Amino acid sequence: MIIVLKPRADAQVVNHVLERIAALGLTPHLSQGVSRTIIGVIGDESKLATLPLQAIEGVEQVVPILKPYKLASREFHPEGSAFEIKGVKIGGGGLAVIAGPCAIESEDLLVEIAGRVRAAGANILRGGAFKPRTSPYSFQGLGEEGLKILQAVGEQFQMPVVTEVMDPRQLEMVEQYADILQIGARNMQNFDLLKECGRTRIPVLLKRGMSATVKDLLMSAEYVLSEGNRQVILCERGIRTFEDSTRNTLDLSIVPNCQLQSHLPIIVDPSHGTGRPELIPAMARAAIAAGADGIHIEVHSCPERALSDGPQALVPDQFDRLMVEIRALADLMGKTITSQTGETAVCAPC
Ligand code: PEP
Ligand code: MN
Repeated sequence: MIIVLKPRADAQVVNHVLERIAALGLTPHLSQGVSRTIIGVIGDESKLATLPLQAIEGVEQVVPILKPYKLASREFHPEGSAFEIKGVKIGGGGLAVIAGPCAIESEDLLVEIAGRVRAAGANILRGGAFKPRTSPYSFQGLGEEGLKILQAVGEQFQMPVVTEVMDPRQLEMVEQYADILQIGARNMQNFDLLKECGRTRIPVLLKRGMSATVKDLLMSAEYVLSEGNRQVILCERGIRTFEDSTRNTLDLSIVPNCQLQSHLPIIVDPSHGTGRPELIPAMARAAIAAGADGIHIEVHSCPERALSDGPQALVPDQFDRLMVEIRALADLMGKTITSQTGETAVCAPC
């Protein structure tokens, strides 16, 4: 349930309510918005039967959350969540442009790609060091060596970095290098991994499982949030359907759908969503127009030589052209592309 406090409830009132809930052995979750303070109580709510919450000075309303996800729900946090990761704003009008190769292959190559995507206006660098490949014989990623390269290149170009963690046993290593932990589609319901990432305070990019419903995705986000990590970014990357002319079916309706039900930022990955470079720009534009808080694009300077996901990579020149459109659209949607160095991408002259 959620406890909505009166508009002018001061710190004393808030602390009093928090203490009374904790004394019952329940964990209160505080959501302090601009106009309202809300306290979520998750767990065995029957324990609250002995506590007449309505009678506490400063409490305005006690409302049950009917949805199975609580901390991820809009009811708990009526304003959209916004995070700042090394100066890059995601949500609250901040647009994330995450770009880079599918896998980290070498330092030289990553420097080349990062230089190009940064110059074009991307504000977060991506690259996988642990790759969830369908075949055990395909390139599995460079592991820690790759993470070191990613961190160094991110620092060189002043971009926060995102990389996938596939297993709870990798977390201790990955968290030393990553600014954002990516949980891939295949691991969206790896509950131990979700809980472990929830115990860190590193933002999590949670990709939708290929057969996950919107509710499944939000329940997975709830696992991370319930461990105390409030920085979860949802990511649509396409789902499996009967359609086989695209790698997946990109479900753009999830953007407004999630925004109605949840306060979490949501971004869109048209690279995995379509698997076809010629479709990616249109889907990236559509994602921004649908209100997404960001896009996630794979870029490689020589797709035919890429060790992973080459067929869906944009080359830097294509990414340059896409970014001209993205900047203009961001402007139109009232979004800003902020960066670690503080400059804001402006609409390129037409
Ligand atoms: C990736 O980002 O390279 C990746 C493997 O994504 P997904 O988990 O969406 O397939
Ligand atoms: Mn990939």
